[in-house]
Amino acid sequence: MPATEPVPANQAPHHARADHIAITGLSKTFNGRQGKVQALQDINLNIKRGEFVSVLGPSGCGKSTLLMMLSGLLPTNVGRIMVDNKHIDAPNPDAGIVFQQDVLLEWRTALQNILIQAEIRKSDMTEAKARARQLLKMVSLEDFEGSYPKELSGGMRQRVSICRALLHKPPLMLMDEPFGALDAMTRDQLQIDLLRLCADNEMTVFFITHSIPEAIFLSDRVVVMSPRPGRIEQIIDIDLPRPRRLAMREEPKFIEYTRELTKIFQGLGVFREEY
Ligand code: ADP
Ligand code: MG
Repeated sequence: MPATEPVPANQAPHHARADHIAITGLSKTFNGRQGKVQALQDINLNIKRGEFVSVLGPSGCGKSTLLMMLSGLLPTNVGRIMVDNKHIDAPNPDAGIVFQQDVLLEWRTALQNILIQAEIRKSDMTEAKARARQLLKMVSLEDFEGSYPKELSGGMRQRVSICRALLHKPPLMLMDEPFGALDAMTRDQLQIDLLRLCADNEMTVFFITHSIPEAIFLSDRVVVMSPRPGRIEQIIDIDLPRPRRLAMREEPKFIEYTRELTKIFQGLGVFREEY
């Protein structure tokens, strides 16, 4: 019998891996012009390295606030966020961030937009260019490296932003409704593109969405948040095999997850159905 090969760290099941993110007792209150607004209340969440976790919740429940605190761009006041066992109290250069609106520079080509990362970080440009081209190829944009943002569709622009965020191989990707502004078919394609990139780059993904099927399709776990002040209502494990395929969305197990999540939000009063 052949000797058992040790399992490489990135192929170990998620539950057997170390925590990448540990959020403890996190609350956030803003002092707005109309008085105090409690955005988040007592968030406790641990995320393993390599896990894909979606945060699902209605508008205004504090999802972006949570992501901004994870990035270190917004200070915490109550509670604690640890990333890689380090207290987050300043912007985290290891994190890649993608927002709903791509923030591409109109006067730079797709390739030059991606290379901004390398310029800021003073990385080796030959290496960076090779990686940028490889990333463009993975999202089927190899023929568009010389195109300017205005020559690209919304979906293509967003692919370029994702490539830019991935250029420096961030161990952590923070994505705030990255596909929210795209039409349904483009959105499907970008979900697949993202999963392909995840399979190829070992990273933890913290993904915000208010789409129930999107959260199920992409994730290992879905964190369900209540309306403001955002609390974690439930965490659902998504036990679907990978690679994920679009046809899985019609399978009974997927539909059961959709039903379960919809029911939780109905219970929270998120949907009003009478008319
Ligand atoms: P989501 O991303 O889930 O839609 P946000 O995190 O953007 O929600 O906002 C959560 C709540 O916190 C909202 O009520 C919003 O008005 C409030 N909020 C967010 N940022 C600020 C800020 N800088 N100042 C005051 N209130 C804010
Ligand atoms: Mg938001």
